Amino acid sequence: MTHVSIQELTKIYPGSVTPALDRLSIEIASGELTALLGPSGCGKTTTMKMIAGLLETTSGDILFNDRSILRDKPENRGVVMVFQNYLLFPYMSVADNVGFGLKMRKTDPAEIKRRVGEMLDLVKLPDVGDRKPSALSGGQQQRIALARALIVQPEVLLLDEPLSNLDAHLRFEMRDLIRQLQQDMGITTIFVTHDQEEAVVLADRVALILDGQMKQYDTPDAFYKRPVDEATARFFGGHNFIPGTSNGGVFDGLLGKLVLPDGAISGPGKLTFRPENVRIGHTHGEANNLNATLEDVIYLGTQTRLKLRVGDVGVEAVVNPNEVEGFSPGDSVPIHLPPATLWVIA
Ligand code: ATP
Repeated sequence: MTHVSIQELTKIYPGSVTPALDRLSIEIASGELTALLGPSGCGKTTTMKMIAGLLETTSGDILFNDRSILRDKPENRGVVMVFQNYLLFPYMSVADNVGFGLKMRKTDPAEIKRRVGEMLDLVKLPDVGDRKPSALSGGQQQRIALARALIVQPEVLLLDEPLSNLDAHLRFEMRDLIRQLQQDMGITTIFVTHDQEEAVVLADRVALILDGQMKQYDTPDAFYKRPVDEATARFFGGHNFIPGTSNGGVFDGLLGKLVLPDGAISGPGKLTFRPENVRIGHTHGEANNLNATLEDVIYLGTQTRLKLRVGDVGVEAVVNPNEVEGFSPGDSVPIHLPPATLWVIA
């Protein structure tokens, strides 16, 4: 079991003035899966390569179980990295690909055969050992790449966008398989993705990185409920932002006075709430009831997006279609903002 501590990790590429990664600090408990989340170019792959030992660090440290690994050669770090484009050896059979790491460790051939069989079972491809990788689909190749990584029982598994080349159906399947294998084997894992949904479904904790800077390192839930700033909230999609002032308990802004949950900051800021937390109808005996005007209705299939106006302020809501049956643009719509779903950012 390996606890990973990344401390102020920084990379400035030669010839560049701005860091590709700027003082990243995260702690990953043994057996946990952390997702590094961010848009293209934010520094995710740079981070992974430094952990794997494929790229020199500019400053900062990486510790496994309280010991710095920076001076260790890549092959001695106990790290295995799976890339987006699988990188299987094309001329080797699938079984030889999966067993490659054990062969390098001079494991007994009979033992290799046994463990390759076990791994192929685990990734649900028991019958493809004799084929060449080119005779497999993209999804199957990706599962083989995972098997090849896991067979050596790495201390730390690095997965760099492993699902991005797969279609939606296979992505869901692989996502579940990765989570199951990672938990069963208790391997501390770092998973890179630009897809916020993938990050929240897979990870114990998510580190959101924007332009080389880590914005928030938190449980998936916290990104929805307590984003640290507007950029973070926006990355998770569809927040409302209302300027005003908080006294900790009440927010006074363009929507009037609204009751806040415990723990909200005081001072000038922006009230933020997610469209799916806007309720249609007033809740009796509670604060935070407002009257809105319906401006537009956008059907999304299983949900409906509403563009509302409260006074001069636009508010977005996402509701069940049956909640707004019979409402038309121009109508007055009573809404409720549950205090527990509000949050204030500086
Ligand atoms: P993607 O999702 O597209 O893979 P990423 O988040 O993994 O992106 P990185 O590949 O880590 O991003 O790149 C971070 C920044 O560092 C980018 O601005 C990139 O242009 C720059 N960069 C990456 N590799 C080098 C290099 N070898 N030399 C100079 N700059 C580099």
